[in-house]
Amino acid sequence: MRMLVTVEFADAGVKTGTHRVLVVGGCSDMAAPGDIGMSLEEAKTLLSALQWEFVAAQAAEITERARQCKRCGARLNIKDWARRSVHTLFGRVLLQSPRLVSCPCEGTASRTISPLKGWLARTSQELRYQAAKLGSTHSYRQAAAVLHELLGVDLSFGYVGIRKAVLEAAAVWIVN
Ligand SMILES: [Zn+2]
Repeated sequence: MRMLVTVEFADAGVKTGTHRVLVVGGCSDMAAPGDIGMSLEEAKTLLSALQWEFVAAQAAEITERARQCKRCGARLNIKDWARRSVHTLFGRVLLQSPRLVSCPCEGTASRTISPLKGWLARTSQELRYQAAKLGSTHSYRQAAAVLHELLGVDLSFGYVGIRKAVLEAAAVWIVN
């Protein structure tokens, strides 16, 4: 059986309408006995595809809000785009981060604004949290293996990333 997965954004933001994310399942006619539900690989592929959609929609929403000048309401132009990569719990996501040109109404020489700065990080907060949690009860290598095998965390986020997340979380606990 094959399943077409489409995404629909609930609020009328920048991303509207539905569009296909991916096809899950093989093309064999009949499922074998016990062949029930999605495989781990299919689930990981699905989560990764949904994550790309989700992150792109978040970035588009932040960008759209920043494109309106807060003084005069004019729409700011995009100067260029930079490619950014983020480690998330469901894989590495690539996205385009725009640089906007400041509004002429400011009366000063134009400057560039990166609306995603402040929101974007190399590693998502959720991955840092789960990595710290797993890394505090398992060896860093075991924790990395679980994240890679079960959730599809990118292989380049390895035990070093886990250790960093554990140490950062420990620092927060000490401060508080
Ligand atoms: Zn303006």
